[in-house]
Order: sequence, then structure tokens, then C-alpha cells
Amino acid sequence: MDAMFEGFIIDLDGTVYRGRRAIEGAAEAIARLKRMGKRVVFLSNRGNYSREMCAAKLRGMGVEAREEEIVLSSTVAALYLKRNHPRDAVWTLGDEGLRDELRVHGVSLAAKPEEAEWLLITLHETLTYRDLNEAFRAVRHGARILATNADRSFPGDDGEAIDVAGMIGAIEAATGRKAEVVIGKPSRLMAEAALEALGLPAERCLVVGDSLASDIAMGRQAGIAAALMLTGSVSREEAEAAGPALRPDWIWSSLAELPLWLEQGIEAAGGQSANDSVSDSANGNPITGKDINGASLEEGIAKI
Ligand SMILES: [Mg+2]
Repeated sequence: MDAMFEGFIIDLDGTVYRGRRAIEGAAEAIARLKRMGKRVVFLSNRGNYSREMCAAKLRGMGVEAREEEIVLSSTVAALYLKRNHPRDAVWTLGDEGLRDELRVHGVSLAAKPEEAEWLLITLHETLTYRDLNEAFRAVRHGARILATNADRSFPGDDGEAIDVAGMIGAIEAATGRKAEVVIGKPSRLMAEAALEALGLPAERCLVVGDSLASDIAMGRQAGIAAALMLTGSVSREEAEAAGPALRPDWIWSSLAELPLWLEQGIEAAGGQSANDSVSDSANGNPITGKDINGASLEEGIAKI
């Protein structure tokens, strides 16, 4: 039964690290998974990093990760633009890592805000008035808005920190225009990109993350089993009280429990399941597997 899961889709913020510190036991858990021959992809809503920056950060924490094992919302935003709007020029509101990831994928960057077809918003940790005003000018001149993710906050060095929702809100409030596309989890786009990176079907994979609204919701919508880690801001009580669309299949105190659970065998640990059956993943979810299967990275659009 433990061979059921071959691929692991692992969240980063609040699951592998918090701010600049690795979560206790996470690095060793990932190393053990790899020694067991499991495939791993790190899937994060972070859009202000490139994969290269992310791999370096992980290595600095003792987590061995190749760039091909990392899928960020910046990566998926670049793929989305390249596949759906290959000729469009993009202006960005966000840290430089986003532009690096767009360049790697060959997305064209506008020379001036007024020349952009799209404004792509992500986290901007050194945001200035000038940055906001340039983004405003892009939209005033017709750029459509997309965002790497719409998370309200993330676990930072000093507790919860404002995330991309704050940047989107500033531009929407000033322009009266709404973001048309949001790339990040729980979107189908992120699930597809992770499965593509793993080269495995949904039923052989497990989502591991600390957020009900992004990690667990994505797993349930995409028909991938999902385990919640209590190393983020969600308590066991909240997770157990969650409705069907947000209910994890398993709840663990941290990532360190994952290899132990695999070694013991899933059936032995079945009593701790938060749900009756993994195969019921999509039940009770207003968006069924069938509906979602119709979308793809080429054509799928996740709306706010
Ligand atoms: Mg997280």
C-alpha cells in the first residue's frame, strides 16, 4: 500500500521553511523520501523568486533540490503566457525573480508600461510608489491584469506577512479593473504543472502543504490526495472542521512524519486519516474532477 504514492507535491512556505529558517526535520524528511526512490516536486505560490533562486535558498537550508524539481507560480505564469499569449508584452509589478523566470521562458517584457498587453503582479518586497504608479500606467493604457497568486499573507520571519493580495488590491482599487487570471494554488494550472514535472498521474501523487485554501483545495479539485502539515497557521481543529472541499486526507504535525508514515505503511497509519477514503477526494466538491479535466495549462483560466 505504501507504494501507492510515488510522487510528492510539497509546498515550501510553512511546510519546508518559515522565513529564512528550515522547519525542523523537513530537510531530513525530503532526503529520506528521495532515498526511498520517491519523486518530489516543490510547488509554491511564490512568484517573486526564480527557480534558480529557490534552489539556492533550499540548498542553503540543507535541502537538496534541482531546478527541475521546483515549480513556482512565476514558472507557471511564464508557461501560461508563453502558451496562450506568445506575442504579448508583459509589465511586472514584483521582485526581480519574476522577471528572471519570464526571461528564461522567453516571455517578452515591455520596455515601457504603456506598451504592455499584460500587467503581471507578484509579491514585491521592496515596493515603492514609483513601482505602483508604473503598474497603474500599464493598466490605464489597456494592460490586462494577471497575478502569480492571490494569497493574503505568508509566514515570514516576524510572523504573518502581507502577500500578493495587497499588491493586487492597490492596483484594482486605483484602476477599477479586476485581475482576470490568478495562476497560483489552488488553480488547476499549478496541479497540472506539478504532475507534468513528476511525470505521474494524479492518483499516484500526494499533495503535502500547510494551507487548506491553497494546498488542500488544489489536491481535492485535481483529484490528488492531500495531507495537511500543522506547521503553518491552520490548527488541527480548523482542519477537522473544514468542509469537503477543504478537508485533508491526513493531518500531520510536520513534514518529518511523512517518511515515517510511508515506512510504516499507509494502512497501519489509516486510523489517523482525517477522511474515510482517499478515493473520495473529489466527493462533495462543487467543482468535480470532470469539470476540471476540461481545463489545461494551454486554455485554463483561474479567476479570482
Ligand atoms: Mg504554505
